[in-house]
Amino acid sequence: MSAAARERFAAMSAKLKASGLKSTPQRLAVMKLLAESKGHPSVDDIRARLQKKFPGISQATVYRTIQLAKSLGEAYEIAFAGSGSRYDGRKPHPHPHIVCLACGRIIDPELRSLGEMTREIAAASGFAITTFRLDFFGLCPACRNNKNGSRKT
Ligand SMILES: [Zn+2]
Ligand SMILES: [Zn+2]
Repeated sequence: MSAAARERFAAMSAKLKASGLKSTPQRLAVMKLLAESKGHPSVDDIRARLQKKFPGISQATVYRTIQLAKSLGEAYEIAFAGSGSRYDGRKPHPHPHIVCLACGRIIDPELRSLGEMTREIAAASGFAITTFRLDFFGLCPACRNNKNGSRKT
């Protein structure tokens, strides 16, 4: 576990404790995975990865724990119409994503122009911007190189 992931997990478990809800081993395991996963896992991804340690852990348990982390401000949901949600516990605040349309990989781009873009939109619209969602879609380098790859569309 990286230092950043350890820090994220410590923040999550502290908030869970402060919330007065039980820090069950399953809840902590879900939050630990959220804290260390770079790949923006789905509920199913997390359930599959915890199956070995917690045989029979249900999708509902994983889902409710993620919602709990979200309500504590410790996880960010990337919702997609049709294909369900993916989650980021490393960066629990809104941030841009790049989504591969072929393999479903999601990464966090470094976007230096984001602040500038926000100011431009605020000035042009007169809105006080409080949050945003910004997703880019395309083919990742691996899928661009894989000519035999099958596209999920
Ligand atoms: Zn891809
Ligand atoms: Zn992310």
